[in-house]
Amino acid sequence: MTRKTFLPFSPPSISEDEIKEVVDTLRSDWLTTGPKTKRFEEAFRERLGSPAALALNSCTAALHLGLAALGVGRGDEVITTTMTFAASANIIEHLGGRPVLVDVEPDTLNIDPAQVEEKITTRTKVILPVHFAGHPAAMDQIFELAGDNNLGVLEDAAHALPAVYRGKAIGSGDNPAAFSFYATKNLTTAEGGMLTGSEELLEQARVLSLHGMSRDAWKRYEQGGSWYYEVVSPGYKYNMTDIQAALGLHQLRRLEGFQRRRGEVVRAYNDAFSGCEALELPVERAEVEHAWHLYVLRLRPEALTIDRDQFIRELESRNIGTSVHFIPVHLHPYYRDKYGYAAGDFPVAYENYRRLLSLPLSPRLTNEDLADVIEAVLQVVKRNWR
Ligand SMILES: *Cc1c(COP(=O)(O)O)cnc(C)c1O
Repeated sequence: MTRKTFLPFSPPSISEDEIKEVVDTLRSDWLTTGPKTKRFEEAFRERLGSPAALALNSCTAALHLGLAALGVGRGDEVITTTMTFAASANIIEHLGGRPVLVDVEPDTLNIDPAQVEEKITTRTKVILPVHFAGHPAAMDQIFELAGDNNLGVLEDAAHALPAVYRGKAIGSGDNPAAFSFYATKNLTTAEGGMLTGSEELLEQARVLSLHGMSRDAWKRYEQGGSWYYEVVSPGYKYNMTDIQAALGLHQLRRLEGFQRRRGEVVRAYNDAFSGCEALELPVERAEVEHAWHLYVLRLRPEALTIDRDQFIRELESRNIGTSVHFIPVHLHPYYRDKYGYAAGDFPVAYENYRRLLSLPLSPRLTNEDLADVIEAVLQVVKRNWR
């Protein structure tokens, strides 16, 4: 039986607590960066055990400032994965740098450290791994390469809240890590992001995040605050508002519960699909705790008469919403044309891109929703079995 209503891919989970806190903020006379943003930064820093945290208006802003704080400028090379959202590469272009794309490991679809090593030159400044779907990249090897070659490491942790690599939370180190609170992410502030890292690095990023104004300029409208400030660099406008932080404070309190439900959904999908030869399930390596931002299912084309695009259409006709993560960066016209990439230049990313889709995954999914997704996927497979 096809379900009656459309199941969205990843609806947000907003409780009365978030709504009350936003209303309280609106009545408080302090709308933008202020006391709630400070509290959210502190609570986030404590949750991950980070040296410092800086709340921003997006993960893209956090990535941009992270790279800037690591000193990336014109002509510098930054090595990153093609299997990511374009923001990870765009910010390198913003700074006049050159994104050097590499292929991914076939199991996790994370950046392949062996290929990173091959791409290191005298111009390389930073390695930018992305924790794809919430599965941490091979950070031991990446930090070793960075150490041997005197490079910075910026982690795109948009999917990786809360992920753990060899017992340590992603975002608990001194190197910068950028988290996303976009509407579909594991924790949302509608739009928003957080940069974690050493106090020294984040102090630079903090100044850049608000027009390059000297320290704590947001306090200048408080009683006792000083009207005087100095612009020490041509900064950006990337600060988080207290309205966003109001959402974040309660989302952070609910994170454990969100993750418990995400885990249940993943286990139910795995149990239902593991016997099906047409489907390849996501992996979780022994040394990590997966944040399960995405459940990326891969089709085995040799077992099916339809391709991924048709598979998605057939799920949609059964009222199941899905998505594709990601269209590899090297296929986008800007990058393809500027750097002369062909689709097959990164064969693992390309081959996997053509056969992957992300199933609904959110704490909002009920057991009935879950059963509907499973039934629809297995029906589509059965109807199109080769
Ligand atoms: C969502 C996402 C971003 C961008 O996050 P925003 O908060 O929307 O700027 C960056 N990288 C990856 C891998 C993402 O999925």
